[in-house]
Amino acid sequence: MKHLVLLGAGHAHVQVLHDLAREPLPAARVTLVSPFAELVYSGMVPGLVAGHYAAADCSIALAPLAARAGAGFDMQAAVRVDATARALVLADGSAMSFDVLSIDTGAAMDRDRIPGAREHALFVRPIEHFVKLLQALLDLAERRTLSLVVVGAGAGGVELALALQYRLGERARLSLVTGGTPPLSSHPASVQARVLRALKRAGVTVFEDSCREIEAGHVVLGGGARLVCDAPLLATGASAPTWLVQTGLALDEQGFVATGATLQSTSHPQVFAAGDVASRSDAHRPRSGVYAVRAGPPLALNLRRFMAGGALENHMPQRHALNLISCGERRAIASWGSWSAEGRWVWWWKDRIDRAFVAHFR
Ligand SMILES: Cc1cc2nc3c(=O)[nH]c(=O)nc-3n(C[C@H](O)[C@H](O)[C@H](O)COP(=O)(O)OP(=O)(O)OC[C@H]3O[C@@H](n4cnc5c(N)ncnc54)[C@H](O)[C@@H]3O)c2cc1C
Repeated sequence: MKHLVLLGAGHAHVQVLHDLAREPLPAARVTLVSPFAELVYSGMVPGLVAGHYAAADCSIALAPLAARAGAGFDMQAAVRVDATARALVLADGSAMSFDVLSIDTGAAMDRDRIPGAREHALFVRPIEHFVKLLQALLDLAERRTLSLVVVGAGAGGVELALALQYRLGERARLSLVTGGTPPLSSHPASVQARVLRALKRAGVTVFEDSCREIEAGHVVLGGGARLVCDAPLLATGASAPTWLVQTGLALDEQGFVATGATLQSTSHPQVFAAGDVASRSDAHRPRSGVYAVRAGPPLALNLRRFMAGGALENHMPQRHALNLISCGERRAIASWGSWSAEGRWVWWWKDRIDRAFVAHFR
């Protein structure tokens, strides 16, 4: 009996499990390996921070999902993968072999890119850790007014700053350090302008500067300014998990798993990868939850076909995706290519999409 291991309960793998629940794989054993009991749906995290959602609203419980799929669930991380020997080592030191491996472990954050960050900052990834630490921050804000600095002004950082300012109101002063560019610099000019207005309305101070160092109580900027800070929050973007280096898998120049159109590793056809951990040289694809979600159905199909010895299908990620950026209050900005719009109706639209995604797995 072939053993399929699903490594990481990311946005693509929950759909693979859902697909397996609908139609089990014949003559196969399936195991999910992931360190947390739930997948926190990242699209709802800003709403959770803002207080619009409870943690349970944004979480997909993995044990029942795996059980419905007829899969085993080993709740721990893999610390080593040998793609050639078809073996994993798990955090508790135990070994696991596989015939087919699918990796959807998401991206990591480089904890040493900014000196002092590892010691003093709160990192937004893993999201599961961040969500747990958030409560301590909210409790602290009950006792005194906080100075908070969000470092990183991509969609995650902007949404986080707006959500915290909305949630804490007078009890916090929020600053956003962008890295030197305007917030959302990779987005069209109209979206940047909307986001700048939202930040201004909310009272978030924007520093178009880099973060040079983080010390206890201060964030030091490239230009020399020192921002008083009770809690620096790092949303500086995705980096490749370091354990990929020793897997033997072909990696791209940034260290992510190099995959082709069938979502197979370019070096090891028995290994598939999807979501933020994977990279495609033949298709431009930003690292975002939208693309990880979209990879779920083709990944499920190709894993099924590969296990049965059938022909695989190519997956071509869409060129543009709908971006929905929440603004703290129940208001959001939508963009698709160069088109953009904003308002309370966009938030309600996003809320419906996000709640429907999570409900799908209940
Ligand atoms: C604050 C914030 C807000 C965001 N908002 C949005 C948004 O609104 N829209 C959007 O499109 N994107 C958003 N993103 C980006 C989005 O979170 C990611 O692009 C998305 O989660 C990637 O999905 P994934 O399937 O690749 O992996 P993930 O969703 O990160 O899942 C990876 C899984 O693998 C597990 N895992 C990790 N390492 C191991 C290991 N070694 N062994 C086993 N399991 C492991 C993890 O615990 C997790 O369960 C946001 C990100 C952040 C930080």
